[in-house]
Amino acid sequence: MLVAIVSDIHGNRHAFEAVLDAIERSECQEMWCLGDLVGYGAEPDACVELARRHAAICLAGNHDLGVIGTLPVEQFSRGAALAARWTREQISAETREYLERLEPSNLDESVGLYHASPRDPVWEYVLSPLQADLCLDVQRQRICLIGHSHVALSFSRPPGAPSTGQTRNPDEQLDLSTGEWLVNPGSVGQPRDGDPRAAWLELDTDGWSATYRRIEYDIAGAAAAIRTARLPDSLAERLSYGQ
Ligand code: ZN
Repeated sequence: MLVAIVSDIHGNRHAFEAVLDAIERSECQEMWCLGDLVGYGAEPDACVELARRHAAICLAGNHDLGVIGTLPVEQFSRGAALAARWTREQISAETREYLERLEPSNLDESVGLYHASPRDPVWEYVLSPLQADLCLDVQRQRICLIGHSHVALSFSRPPGAPSTGQTRNPDEQLDLSTGEWLVNPGSVGQPRDGDPRAAWLELDTDGWSATYRRIEYDIAGAAAAIRTARLPDSLAERLSYGQ
C-alpha cells in the first residue's frame, strides 16, 4: 500500500490543505498523521476537522496533549505554552473530544508509529546517530516513523554496523528493504529544516521505499492568521524561514 505520512501540522490550515491536495493528486491510498495537529498556528479546529476526515491513523503529539491538559504546559517553552493556552480557549468541544482519543504511538501496523521516538513517544527529539542507535535498540518494528523534530531526516542501521543518518531533500527516495530505520517526514505546518515548504512523505509498504515531498503553500495567509489571533509575532515570522 502507498501511504501518505504527515506530521506536526500545528494549526496551519493553509499548509495542511496544500499537502492534502498534493496527496489527493498522488497514488496514496491512505494518510497517517504522526501528531501535533494543534499548537503554534491559528486554525486548530480546521486542522483537526481535516485530520478527522482524511486520516486513517492519527497520533497525539506533545502539543495536542498540552492543549487538552494531559501534559502540563509548564514543561513547554514560553511561546509554546502561550500558544497551547490560547488553543485551549479556542477549540470546540468536538476538537477536544477528538484530541482526547489519540495516543502518541501505534504499533498495530507493519511499521511502528511514534510522535517523538520509540524510547519516548512524547518528548525525545531524535537528531543524532547516537540517539537513533538507542531508539533502534528498543524499537519492536524494523521500520519506525517519527515526527516531533520538524526536520525531514532519516537514520538507518545495517546489520552489525552503527547507525548513520542525515536530513533529506525533496523527492529523495529511501530504499527501506533492508536494515533498521527511523524515518521523519518533516513538518507540515512549521518546518524547521530551512525549507519553508510544507513537508510530507510517501511510504510504499509493499516495495519498502519512501519518497520525501515538499509543497509550496500560502505562507503569508498562515502568518496573517497568526497575527490576527494575536499569537506571538515570532510564530508568524518563522514560517517564512522554515525555522
Ligand atoms: Zn511538533
